[in-house]
Amino acid sequence: MGHVDHGKTTLLSALKEFDLTKKEHGGITQHIGAYQLSFKKEKITFIDTPGHAAFAKMRSQGAEVTDLVVLVVAADDGVKPQTKESLDHIKQAQVPFLVAINKIDLPSASVDQVKAQLAENGVLVEDYGGDIVCVAVSAKQKKGLDDLLEMVLLLAKMQELKADPKASFKGVVIDSKLDSKKGPVATVLVKDGTLKAGTFIKTDGVTARVKLMLDEKDHKVVKAEPSQPVLVLGFKKAPAVGALVVSVEKRGKWQPSAFISQLKPAQAKQEDQEEQEGQKESEDQEKQEDKEKQEKIKIILKADTSATLQALEANLSEEVQLILTGVGQISESDVLLAQATQAKIIGFNVSTPLKVSKLAEQEKINIKTYNVIYELLEDLEKKVLQMMEPTINETVLGEAEVIAEFKIKGHHIAGCALKKGRINKKDKIHLKREDKILKDAKIKSLQQEKQEINQAEEGTQVGIVFTPDVDFQIGDAIIAYN
Ligand code: GDP
Repeated sequence: MGHVDHGKTTLLSALKEFDLTKKEHGGITQHIGAYQLSFKKEKITFIDTPGHAAFAKMRSQGAEVTDLVVLVVAADDGVKPQTKESLDHIKQAQVPFLVAINKIDLPSASVDQVKAQLAENGVLVEDYGGDIVCVAVSAKQKKGLDDLLEMVLLLAKMQELKADPKASFKGVVIDSKLDSKKGPVATVLVKDGTLKAGTFIKTDGVTARVKLMLDEKDHKVVKAEPSQPVLVLGFKKAPAVGALVVSVEKRGKWQPSAFISQLKPAQAKQEDQEEQEGQKESEDQEKQEDKEKQEKIKIILKADTSATLQALEANLSEEVQLILTGVGQISESDVLLAQATQAKIIGFNVSTPLKVSKLAEQEKINIKTYNVIYELLEDLEKKVLQMMEPTINETVLGEAEVIAEFKIKGHHIAGCALKKGRINKKDKIHLKREDKILKDAKIKSLQQEKQEINQAEEGTQVGIVFTPDVDFQIGDAIIAYN
């Protein structure tokens, strides 16, 4: 990762050549979005993400493919906006990183100045009393490449990275396209397990059979093990970058349960929908919503000047968690970071470029801008209140007490006495025990004397089936609200 023109592409090509000079030549290399090289009998896979956007995108989909980031900073140009953005993404992803200071061959290069700028941005390299590894290289003159790879291996060893080639297969699409000769192809990076030709896999909700696997030289690959990137043929359409790929037992049936637990909740939700309908899914959603209520309000805050930014920061309540603060326009990178961290974007006296608004709309990210400080603070305050007291905007329509529990033909029915108001089939309900809301649900069925009804009135008894099912007890309160 790094700022544009700091030499990421050149460095990758230099590493490829460096690797090739040690191997036999032959075959024309094609671009498959990743490259695995051997160094000191170890294998290192470089993923050439074109920028941090792709990195954030993959991460936001639960596809954490990166074990280590090489941050490229040009020695003649120093820390630039995209260097800082990369650092934000690295920080959020909590991925270890090292810095490659590139272009040291240039007369205007100053490694020391870059180190000082990095320190100003909170990255303390070894000379500055920190422990961030920093390697000086020249991609153009192929200098320092040994040192760089050595450090990559060292940092990888420290992480004790592990994967199991015998586990069920999981991978991530890191590149895909429609090839004029091969049809839809995708570069899949194996995360766990082993991928073999003939295996049924599922990605983006579509099942495919691996017809053929190729390496970057168009050579056939029989099996791909963890961290190996392979070009996979056999898809009906090119899957999206960042999509997760899992093996399925046979067509239409798949067991990615182990993987689902590793996914981001949003992704897990989506996968669940495909597999299990109704209750299970909405229960998961419920749990997730409950969890989100307890969490802090995550915010990316952009302002016109650093003085306003400081003033705003000083006035935020403890329930607000700042994911990122910055001076300047709201950017695409902010939107992707918001998506990856499930944050809201708030701007003060700043504009949102059209393409950024479009991306935000597409990714369903909330951007709100203000020109008056107290309005911003007031709105945040409201959000905080709502988070701490979810019922703040609700009107209670009816209150019942659970007086019996029945299980009839697989239905879990709460026999309730309606003490106040009425309960309508369309109402939302809270299950309350000792004044605490345990669960929110909707009404699936409302019955009086074996008749399905739309509304039960005060003073009557009623049988209620909830969706999702609720683990109620006799004595619990059922609150119908609007
Ligand atoms: P990217 O945008 O980060 O991928 O940067 P590129 O790899 O496209 O490099 C941008 C420019 O810097 C190109 O003109 C490269 O030839 C040049 N460049 C890259 N690495 C070096 C280097 O080590 N030394 C010098 N002098 N130029 C370099």
